[in-house]
Amino acid sequence: MFAITGSVTSSCFKSSLLVQARNKTKVHWAKLKRKTSPKYKAQNHFDDFYGSVFGEKWEPMKEAMLRRQKYVAVINNYGDPEETAEYLANRGAHCLKNLMTVQQAFHKQYNPASDMPPKSNTDNKLQQYISKVQSDDIAGIYPQKLELPDTLEHSDMSLNSVQHISTNQSKMQSENNQLNSSPIDESRIIDPSLGLSATEALFQYIPATKLKGMDDWLPESVHYSYLSSNKDFPLVIDVETELKFPEHLKVYTYEMDSEWTMFPEPKRCNTGVYNYYPLDCGSVISVLALCLEGGDRVLDLCAAPGGKALLALQTLLPDIVVCNDSSISRSNRMQKMFSDYLIDYKTSNKWQERVLITKFDGRAFMDDQGFDKVLVDVPCTTDRVSMREDENNIFRPDRIKERLRLPEMQSQLLLNALRLVRVGGAVVYSTCSLSPIQNDGVVHMALKRAFEEHGIQACVRDFSASVAGLSSTLCLASGDSAPQYGQLVIPSVSANFGPSYISRLVRLK
Ligand code: SAM
Repeated sequence: MFAITGSVTSSCFKSSLLVQARNKTKVHWAKLKRKTSPKYKAQNHFDDFYGSVFGEKWEPMKEAMLRRQKYVAVINNYGDPEETAEYLANRGAHCLKNLMTVQQAFHKQYNPASDMPPKSNTDNKLQQYISKVQSDDIAGIYPQKLELPDTLEHSDMSLNSVQHISTNQSKMQSENNQLNSSPIDESRIIDPSLGLSATEALFQYIPATKLKGMDDWLPESVHYSYLSSNKDFPLVIDVETELKFPEHLKVYTYEMDSEWTMFPEPKRCNTGVYNYYPLDCGSVISVLALCLEGGDRVLDLCAAPGGKALLALQTLLPDIVVCNDSSISRSNRMQKMFSDYLIDYKTSNKWQERVLITKFDGRAFMDDQGFDKVLVDVPCTTDRVSMREDENNIFRPDRIKERLRLPEMQSQLLLNALRLVRVGGAVVYSTCSLSPIQNDGVVHMALKRAFEEHGIQACVRDFSASVAGLSSTLCLASGDSAPQYGQLVIPSVSANFGPSYISRLVRLK
């Protein structure tokens, strides 16, 4: 009895201390949490980055991304497809293929000149933002105000990371001398093990080359060094005319602003498999962009948990789909998903021959036959998830290095995909990020490296006219916000899909 009272007293005492401690701090603890939790860090980062790039279009996107995401329903052809289609239609859903066909005809009739919409791009705003990040990097390390030579314009620095400052650009030499002789603000160097807020503030500002024993620390600006407008390789952008909705693919959706938005939970059919698979509509575009044909040998280089691979199989077109993912646990999830959707998946030889699961690092995946189509749905900042969930968030302090190195990893995966596809075949690169660095920046870098290091030439296929038929279902970036090498599905409250970036590349050489 006494022990219980004692423990209650001591816990009361502790909590009263805690309350006092909370009250003593100048910043309210809830505000402090808001400042330091990974999802708020992601939101602040995106406010700064996407606010600079997308201007006033960013706030509505952000509002949508903080709300519940919308899905489409991919009908399982191995279940009871007709019955499921009727069930969904009775709930107010529409067949995406029909919507696309009607809208395409409408666009052709009323916007005949819009087959190849003129695109401006985000380059200028992005360059300004990158200059700012790099200046911040420098200012963070060298608090002493530097006198920059008149001739040095910010844009000269915008395509180089801080590590590259001491390159051959002679007009930057005088700045370099000042940088090298300036003392580093030692107070900014903090051991990452010390804790979240201190480390977080500093991790962004430490140059890899300056700190002894910390050679692999990276400044934030490294992430942006992937953006290069240097077109010193043959870059061709053609209009895509081949993109069609596969005959047997049945996708149901609610239209924009429809009062129905959410599908009920999928349920088991008489055949034992689930009746439909919920998927973001942006993922549907990635698979449409593959332009699958009967008999195709397809590689999904980063396949788990398998949504897009399942969609490719639901077209009933490919002969073989190789589903590769370097994560064993995610590959196991993918296998379980296939057994939930493909009838007799575990027992039938047909599936063992058609769906091959491999667990290689996609950067080193090898094959000697050449694939007809390769999908590269890379790991990215998964913007929507990063803004909403703290668990396993890529903006967590212990994942900073991984985050800053994403563009490098993404371009290595895309480069290998370009090597694995046969001449005449197609690679689709996709992310679920709005970042122009992880999107156009990575495509540009991979095309450049493919040409310079392997003599591979691929052209970008602009399929904007084909997906204009989806304008009653989702929002595609246009005008100033549109990427150059792909399509960007932007989240909006009325059509809350994405973000998804999809670039279609056809190998020429
Ligand atoms: N395409 C999947 C789908 O539709 O369900 C989603 C793919 S997810 C965006 C990215 C995947 O890439 C993750 O499952 C991750 O395990 C995998 N991954 C990360 N690094 C990889 C690498 N080096 N090689 C292959 N897969 C990798």
